[in-house]
Amino acid sequence: KFAGKNCYRFYSHEVAEDAMRRMRMEQNLRGAWERGEMSVVYQPIYRTSDRALMGAEALLRWTRPTEGAIPPELFIPVAEQSGLIEDIGVHVLQAACAEAASWPELPGGGHAFVSVNVSGQQMRNVALFTQVTDALRHSGLAAERLHLEVTETAVIRDVTHAADLLARLRGVGVRVWLDDFGTGYSSLNHLRRVQVDGLKIDRSFIADLLEDPGDLALTSATMAMAHSLGIVVVAEGVEQRGQYDLLREREGDFVQGYWLSHPLSAMEFARLLD
Ligand code: C2E
Ligand code: CA
Ligand code: CA
Repeated sequence: KFAGKNCYRFYSHEVAEDAMRRMRMEQNLRGAWERGEMSVVYQPIYRTSDRALMGAEALLRWTRPTEGAIPPELFIPVAEQSGLIEDIGVHVLQAACAEAASWPELPGGGHAFVSVNVSGQQMRNVALFTQVTDALRHSGLAAERLHLEVTETAVIRDVTHAADLLARLRGVGVRVWLDDFGTGYSSLNHLRRVQVDGLKIDRSFIADLLEDPGDLALTSATMAMAHSLGIVVVAEGVEQRGQYDLLREREGDFVQGYWLSHPLSAMEFARLLD
């Protein structure tokens, strides 16, 4: 059906096995949070200019007692397609806000932010705005300290609705970042219609920054564009010193990646802040 009207495919065992695997995963995902199989880890985000710790991205982890850790790349799509991401997403939001509210003040003054991923499925739910404001109220976290990461793909599904929702969220002080920038249907039209506070350059651009002049040119151009729009740029997937040096030279705002720190447990991140 995806391939078009007059297209047919032969049945194969792999397709059936894949469908079975997804169905089993969906069943296992139900109640996974309540069973204590899920947790949230925090990957530090640093200011590029002086490598000061500024905040963290909240990332979901799922560990099954029998199978061990299941990668988000496998279970997030299943959670999205089954609609389970809506419940799980609320838990992540609440957990991240509660955690961030307990963080100590930064050495330079002010408080660290926490950045939470919001999937397209969650954006289409009219309850999202209330879920966000409830999480802020219950935790006592200042709205400015909560950042939401939304993908362009989620935005283009319904640009009018997304623009309205994100404007309301920004209206109460929550910051919005466009995630995986450059990988979807990147269109300047989205940046015109949907107001955001920052762009996260996808790690596929950062990976070859030192070897591929094309990726360097695109990354530099994205940073220049963001700055003339008055919004910040976060480079993710920084794995080498050389990549960081280059991003600092080009005046990128924030960096995140294994070279700086892997994702940490809530306790480890609090200790790092301390
Ligand atoms: P993402 O939003 O692009 O998150 C960044 C991913 O890059 C994380 O993978 C992180 O661990 C990984 N990463 C960070 N630094 C580096 C690096 O230097 N090199 C490399 N190769 N990778 C790095 P993770 O945690 O496996 O998450 C994968 C994806 O799952 C996320 O991609 C996001 O789309 C989704 N996801 C994770 N948590 C949530 C959540 O709570 N809600 C939703 N809706 N999606 C989530
Ligand atoms: Ca993200
Ligand atoms: Ca990303």
